[in-house]
Amino acid sequence: MADHPIDTPPRAPSPVHRFGTLAVHAGSPHDPVTGAVIESISLSTTFAQTAVGQPIGKYEYSRSSNPNRDNFETAVAALENAKHALAFSSGSATTAVILQSLAAGSHVISVSDVYGGTHRYFTQVASAHGVKVTFTPEIEVDIRQHITPDTKLVWIETPSNPTLRLVDIRAVATQAHQHGIKVVVDNTFMSPYVQNPLDHGADIVVHSVTKYINGHSDVVMGVAAFNSEEMLKRLSFLQNAIGAIPSPFDCWLAHRGMKTLHLRAREATTNATSVAKALEGSPHVIAVNYPGLNSHPHRAIAIKQHRNGMGGGMLSFRIQGGHAAAERFCQATSLFTLAESLGGVESLVEVPSSMTHAGIPKDQREAVGVYDDLVRMSCGVEDAEDLKADVLQALEKAVVLPKITNGLNGFAHRAK
Ligand SMILES: *Cc1c(COP(=O)(O)O)cnc(C)c1O
Repeated sequence: MADHPIDTPPRAPSPVHRFGTLAVHAGSPHDPVTGAVIESISLSTTFAQTAVGQPIGKYEYSRSSNPNRDNFETAVAALENAKHALAFSSGSATTAVILQSLAAGSHVISVSDVYGGTHRYFTQVASAHGVKVTFTPEIEVDIRQHITPDTKLVWIETPSNPTLRLVDIRAVATQAHQHGIKVVVDNTFMSPYVQNPLDHGADIVVHSVTKYINGHSDVVMGVAAFNSEEMLKRLSFLQNAIGAIPSPFDCWLAHRGMKTLHLRAREATTNATSVAKALEGSPHVIAVNYPGLNSHPHRAIAIKQHRNGMGGGMLSFRIQGGHAAAERFCQATSLFTLAESLGGVESLVEVPSSMTHAGIPKDQREAVGVYDDLVRMSCGVEDAEDLKADVLQALEKAVVLPKITNGLNGFAHRAK
């Protein structure tokens, strides 16, 4: 690797165990008093001290730190090959705290098609404390043109949402590091099982834990993982000072969910691959966006950056028949629930142009491929054959049936 050794951040020690073993055991000590195999939920907000300023253990007050959050953070760090992780009350709070860590007057370069809430924070909140964000659709190509002396951070989301375009993390990090700029990767869509951005040169990896890490659609939470001690000091100070922290119960639930991440991520990839191939073979589909398909324009990046070239559980496709067909499709599926969000055990479907991405003006949306006829799917861990059958029957209902009905109406009209 033609990397720049001076700029390479300190790495976490090489793990002794593999992913599945770490998912189950990292940050999961047996209770030293009772022997409980599963940690208890520590709801106490405060911890006793034996003398003034001398707590019995390592805890004082639960916003600053508590056992469940500590254990969850230890586990995430292990799965992202990071030295440190810090948990927050949501993915959005994680983003906010990282942006808050920049001095007023700082400049950020971001990929164009970031998560809607990230875009909202960058354009409507960060500016209020003097941080300016520039967006680019081709960050690997034109990052240099956007760098100014004030540029402190580059923000990447790969795959992007909802078009599943990929960014070469190493290519961007190499250029950013030459200018002393840190690189953040939002890894929510892939989860730590499929992609570990720090291994490709990123400085911080962030997740909406709400999605794959928790995986059961019952917790809203976020996490950031990184190697630098300086970053730990700054971000843990803000974690405590701002106080956007998750509850012990949510940490416990998310940690439990994460213990099966490898199983869920493999199954979701199997299912999404099967659905993507069925869609690709259908005459009712204009185009399929799935990084696990050889037809994906960035397939080479997927092979380099994702575990075994896996495509993950997310895909999107353009349906024949425009926006109305996209809406009909989402109502015609029986296993895929029409809902926002992703990464849970259950499959979900949505129309980005009127749901998750409705806030983006139409011309800006279409410039990055978010057309009115685009449907986004999150494949869960049901059986692949059932999901495939559900998608194919919904396509018939959404595209073919209306044509027949319209045809009959036309016939009836002429016959009159
Ligand atoms: C959901 C999501 C977020 C925001 O996370 P919350 O937990 O909902 O605040 C950020 N990035 C991506 C890619 C997401 O999907």
